[in-house]
Order: sequence, then C-alpha cells, then structure tokens
Amino acid sequence: MTTLLEKITDQARALAVRSPWIYRINAGSCNGCDVECATTALIPRYDVERLGCQYCGSPRHADIVLITGPLTTRVKEDVLRVFAEIPDPKVTVAVGVCPISGGIFRDGYAVNAPIDKYLPVDINVPGCPPRPQAIIEGIAQAIAIWRERL
Ligand code: SF4
Repeated sequence: MTTLLEKITDQARALAVRSPWIYRINAGSCNGCDVECATTALIPRYDVERLGCQYCGSPRHADIVLITGPLTTRVKEDVLRVFAEIPDPKVTVAVGVCPISGGIFRDGYAVNAPIDKYLPVDINVPGCPPRPQAIIEGIAQAIAIWRERL
C-alpha cells in the first residue's frame, strides 16, 4: 500500500523539471568518437541541447556519462576514479565499438575493453565512429532511463 509520503514524493518527482548534464570521458580513444560527440553539441544541425540537456565540465555535476575509447591501461585508473566521482543515479553510454568490444584495438597489449567489466554500462552506441544521430539517440535513451531513476 502506498503511503502518503510516497505519493507526495512521486508527485514531486513528476513535477520536478530538471535538465540532465552530460559529461564525456575519453578512455583512450583515437578521438574519432569524441569529435562526433562534440558535433552533437556544437553544430546546429544536430543540437543535442534541444533534448533539454547540456554538456558540463565536471564529473560531480554530471547525470549522464558518455565514454569513448577501449580503456587503455594508461588511463584506466583515472577513468575509474573520475567515473566514481559522478553522483548516482547516473546513466552510462558507451560510445563507439572501442568501449563495447575493443574495436580495432581489441588485441592490443594495453587494451582493457570491454569497459563493462569495470563499470556498469546502460546503453551501447556501436559504430566506428557512430554517427551523431546514433549518439543523440543513445542520449535520448539515457535521459529516459535517468528520469526513471530519479
Ligand atoms: S570506435 Fe573507432 S572512432 Fe571511436 S575511438 Fe574507437 S577507433 Fe576511434
């Protein structure tokens, strides 16, 4: 049975208008995916901010995290530390095949992909690199998951 407090909390959540912040982590990518992520924000043709979200510069402000790259040994500890700084409930999007499988680097001696061995991934956006439209679709899915988790 739902208590009054739970009802009020549910209604407050439904009324709360809050826009998610997006943070991007480069886990050793070739920068191809990062350029496509930047394209979603910088070019009016794509303009991911029309979904009501915005990129931010601090992991502590983030709600949605985009991760690119195959998690190289050089950056692994830093990536995991920065990821841990992002407050819950966060939603993680793996952008490109590198974090999903290692992509063209999968046999490299310093590659630790798939990244979901080390942190929870909610959405995979495959491609090498994925097109901006695919990244935006992944962000839209992430926003829906994030709102459910609030
Ligand atoms: S998926 Fe392709 S474009 Fe993206 S970081 Fe890996 S190699 Fe580069």
